[in-house]
Amino acid sequence: MSKKLFIPGPIDVNEDVLAQMAKQVISHRGSEASALQEAITEKLQDLFYTKNNILLSTSSGSGLMEGSIRSCTLKRAAVLSCGSFGDRWYKMGVLNGVPADLFKVELGKAIEPEMVDKVLSTNKYDTVMVTHNETSTGIANPIKEIGEVIKKYDNIIYCVDAVSSAGGMKIEVDESNIDICLTSVQKALGLPPGMSLCTFSEKAKKRAEKVPNRGYYFDLLAIYEYIQNKNYQYPSTPSLSHMFALNFQLKKILNEGLDNRFNRHEEMANLVRDWAQEHFQIFTDVNYLSNTLTVIKNTQGISVSNLNKKLQERGFLIANGYGDLKEKTFRISHMGDYTVKDVNELLININEILGF
Ligand SMILES: *Cc1c(COP(=O)(O)O)cnc(C)c1O
Repeated sequence: MSKKLFIPGPIDVNEDVLAQMAKQVISHRGSEASALQEAITEKLQDLFYTKNNILLSTSSGSGLMEGSIRSCTLKRAAVLSCGSFGDRWYKMGVLNGVPADLFKVELGKAIEPEMVDKVLSTNKYDTVMVTHNETSTGIANPIKEIGEVIKKYDNIIYCVDAVSSAGGMKIEVDESNIDICLTSVQKALGLPPGMSLCTFSEKAKKRAEKVPNRGYYFDLLAIYEYIQNKNYQYPSTPSLSHMFALNFQLKKILNEGLDNRFNRHEEMANLVRDWAQEHFQIFTDVNYLSNTLTVIKNTQGISVSNLNKKLQERGFLIANGYGDLKEKTFRISHMGDYTVKDVNELLININEILGF
């Protein structure tokens, strides 16, 4: 039996989107492939409220995280972390030989603009990496306000990991001064895993031109230049099957209406938050709650893995806490094409299992 995946990615993919993945492949050097990239670009520019270029990567989102810190850091990267995914970005810097410093906040707390200001006032950095939606703690960081701070400084490339939020929460890339906003396709965009994408500003391009050692596969400048100069094509073969599905799904997303989609995510989030507050507690600072997932403090000491076993028998799956937060917290995602009705159904089943 297939399960409803209320985990923070991958999530269920609609049948019509899956069917796009089964279409016959085309040449990645033909005009059809160019037209596909162009069509995807226009739609993603709408989704991200940007005029910047769009790059696709045949990798999961981690590839673009690695590519952005390496391609755009000349001096030193400031990595602001409020959990596991922020920490990952720092590790990538170190392992690529990119000078980087890690600035952490307590788990469950947000990265505040004042903190970014303090870090940048040292004048040591030329890139800033921020996780929008920290999937391990349920925090949605104030990326727009952080962007305001970054505006005050010259020459900072602002990179945002929006892997678990893009497609479910509004991200205004240009208004927020974001140079690179990256995401994977298997979370709030609702596609099978295997591709990721990012916005790429002129400023990021100019910076990358100065960075001597950008690697090969995740060299964002090389990808950008190929798209520019070779009529919307890629240096290596992209997953054309994902591109069919992405173009199709983006059409559906825009047809739903972006505001409708973001509101639907907020409604699903409100439902789970209310439930969590009635029976448990919300783990996360309530001033910065994510609309795509809720992290719940296990105040009743239930066995999360047992709950999940019983949920699976009923056709659902939720997520245990991430890393050290396992069993101390659990996570319910509400992203992609799920509806309030689906979330209600999940909560009713949890209530029955736990005897609420
Ligand atoms: C899932 C996730 C990642 C990793 O993405 P992959 O596509 O698995 O590489 C990175 N950052 C955040 C915030 C995530 O939720």
